[in-house]
Amino acid sequence: MQQIKDFGAVVLFIMTSFSLLAQQNTDNVSQFHQQLLTLDSHTDTPLRLSRSNFDIGIKNDARDGGGKIDFPRMKEGGLDAVFFAVFIGQGDRDEASNLKAKQQALKIFDDIDLALKTYPEMASLALASKDAERINKEGKLAIFIGVENGYPVGKDIRMVETLYDRGARYITLSHSYNNDICDSSTDEKGPEHGGLSPFGEEVVREMNRLGMMVDVSHISDAAFFDVIALTEQPVIASHSNARAICDHPRNMTDEMLLALKENGGVAQLCVLSSYVKTMPENPVRDSAFAVVRQKFNGFKDLDDEQMQQAREAWYATDQQFPAVLASVADLVDHVDHIVNLIGIDYVGIGTDFDGGGALSDCYDVTEIVNITRELLRRGYSEADIQKIWSGNFLRVFAAVEAGAI
Ligand SMILES: [Zn+2]
Repeated sequence: MQQIKDFGAVVLFIMTSFSLLAQQNTDNVSQFHQQLLTLDSHTDTPLRLSRSNFDIGIKNDARDGGGKIDFPRMKEGGLDAVFFAVFIGQGDRDEASNLKAKQQALKIFDDIDLALKTYPEMASLALASKDAERINKEGKLAIFIGVENGYPVGKDIRMVETLYDRGARYITLSHSYNNDICDSSTDEKGPEHGGLSPFGEEVVREMNRLGMMVDVSHISDAAFFDVIALTEQPVIASHSNARAICDHPRNMTDEMLLALKENGGVAQLCVLSSYVKTMPENPVRDSAFAVVRQKFNGFKDLDDEQMQQAREAWYATDQQFPAVLASVADLVDHVDHIVNLIGIDYVGIGTDFDGGGALSDCYDVTEIVNITRELLRRGYSEADIQKIWSGNFLRVFAAVEAGAI
């Protein structure tokens, strides 16, 4: 009997030690993560800024419709710098529609300015690659701006400089549909220009001149290779994964990744589940969303109130038929693949939080430490992890700045 008791005590001792060790490891990983300079190159958080029920300066609940990012949660999650996307979904391309897209984009810059003015003690606008570290040292969050979709440029090349002057440091040339700059990787109508249009070539040259990063996420493979052939500066994919690991046209093939290495650019991996892992089909969820999409006219031409109703319906559907999400381990499979193919210097993180980004164990910005934990678990060195969390991206950013004329 005594033996059994002793055995029990030993088991208890071992279990306690293990849990203490696990606890300590958790603390060590968190500590290590907090002292990294971390940068997320793509989030769609500005879409939320104009909503009356969202306040970026208070902690919101991601699982209760509060979005994936706000300033307190960035702090908590150890995210030091972020690119907020000025995103305009592709619409018609006549003069009046282009003007509307431009006005909507400029309004989003105003929204970002207002958020930063409201919380000057929490965050500052960042304009240069060095600002990430400088602002972080001031104890604040560094907020960069990128434009997702060249649609607001319309056919007016001067708009590129206007966007730069407003603080944008990259433009994602297209979104889900072809535009006047280039073809998209996901337009059902197929290619329109066969890659970059002649106007798109002008846009890339202008971005090189200004020292603005060209973002190749979303664009077609042919457009990617056209950009690579033309650009005099390294490019970024602000939120794209490896197609060899998850076969989706939004992701980059090995051939593209090899060309990206030659170019000296960087692929920033996103946590949008369907670009991370091909999940089993979920027809019930898909058809529920199709009903919402149809009810709200494909989310086109809605007034503010209708848009709010559409968002609520979308969110309710998501709650009713929750998606099965990929995991951080699945995401780090992309890191492994890219590092094996082209080395450690060309990969980073651009979550696409608030644009669909979510993993089961990285659901919002407070859980990004889990990416660091998985990288450590797989044997990446502290120096490698710093490169992934900002070093590689900031190298490209600084090169593009230096190349400005
Ligand atoms: Zn996107």
